[in-house]
Amino acid sequence: RFITFEGIDGSGKSTQARRLHNYLRQGGSDAILTREPGGSAGAEEIRALVLQGDPARWSAETELLLFTAARRDHLERLILPALDAGQTVICDRFADSTRLYQGLSRGDLRGKVDALHDLMIGVEPDLTLLIDMDPEAALSRAKARQTAEERFEDFGLDLQRKMRAGFLALAEEFPKRIRLIDGNQSEDAVARDVIAAVAQSA
Ligand code: C5P
Repeated sequence: RFITFEGIDGSGKSTQARRLHNYLRQGGSDAILTREPGGSAGAEEIRALVLQGDPARWSAETELLLFTAARRDHLERLILPALDAGQTVICDRFADSTRLYQGLSRGDLRGKVDALHDLMIGVEPDLTLLIDMDPEAALSRAKARQTAEERFEDFGLDLQRKMRAGFLALAEEFPKRIRLIDGNQSEDAVARDVIAAVAQSA
């Protein structure tokens, strides 16, 4: 089974992905945890190319190609072999992040995002947990752990709001696959909702 976590920066999705991974492993399932951009050696190199250094180095279109190349490598080398071997794959961000970040944040590239996805990726998760959270609270969390090495989205509140609205619109676009989780609750309560959603979709 292929399960992804999505949400705005600071929404707690990485913490929740880790907790679900631990929970499934403790229950005896063969689950792996991975992330995007990155997740395979080649894709991690592309992550560094995109997220470190001058953001203006790449045009929006080139950035989309780099993210798509990273996803393709991650799929070929890690995700598809793991799914074929019967493992559960939990991935922190996947194509929905590209539909929004590359598709929306630097102009409207959604048509190109979708065309490239169909051409080169063609895989959708079985279940996507969208951790929805107040953009302002998520922003202050994200800022608190921002590292010097990696460029993060410029962390304006406007962008956080736009991305949150975009994620909610995606949840309406893919109602069967995307489950909305209220990320404004305590970490434990969010984890309980995540486990319930995973159990329900099994
Ligand atoms: O999820 P993570 O914190 O590792 O993401 C690192 C940065 O890359 C974040 O600022 C995120 O918004 C950005 N990103 C992006 N496009 C993606 C995935 C992540 O711009 N497709």
